[in-house]
Amino acid sequence: MLPARKDWREFCQQLLLSNMYQRPDMLTNPGVDPQGQALDPRKIQDNFEDFYEDLFEELSKYGQIESLDICDNLADHMVGNVYVRFREEEHAQAALQNFTGRFYAGRPIIVDFSPLTDFREATCRQYEENVCNRGGYCNFMHLKKISRELRRRLFGRNK
Ligand SMILES: [Zn+2]
Repeated sequence: MLPARKDWREFCQQLLLSNMYQRPDMLTNPGVDPQGQALDPRKIQDNFEDFYEDLFEELSKYGQIESLDICDNLADHMVGNVYVRFREEEHAQAALQNFTGRFYAGRPIIVDFSPLTDFREATCRQYEENVCNRGGYCNFMHLKKISRELRRRLFGRNK
């Protein structure tokens, strides 16, 4: 079956930035830093929200952002993946062009259009209800939440 026109548009409005968010515990075990100390969950969250806001501001230069989602999964193909959907496909295109070949925190940015259209199908519902017991290796996307304050600050203008 050929994709409907709507799917094609969504395809072009959305970018995937692969492995961009680095969990502080990604090289050790979940919740433990490289020195073997337990990480304070609030510090992980603060660190995450700083990254989220920074990236949001950077991407906003190219157009209005409809959604910005970051995977908390640990499996290689999902770890640190960032999905950003722009309101206009031209803006996604501009962001793609400007991010290609750039570096973030000393690592090259890997960015491309994303074919993932149905987030509801791919997202872990248990994680959203805080009851997923498969942790970082769950096969469904664990989209890390941001605080209500940050959401209002970043998206409040549009929503
Ligand atoms: Zn899950």
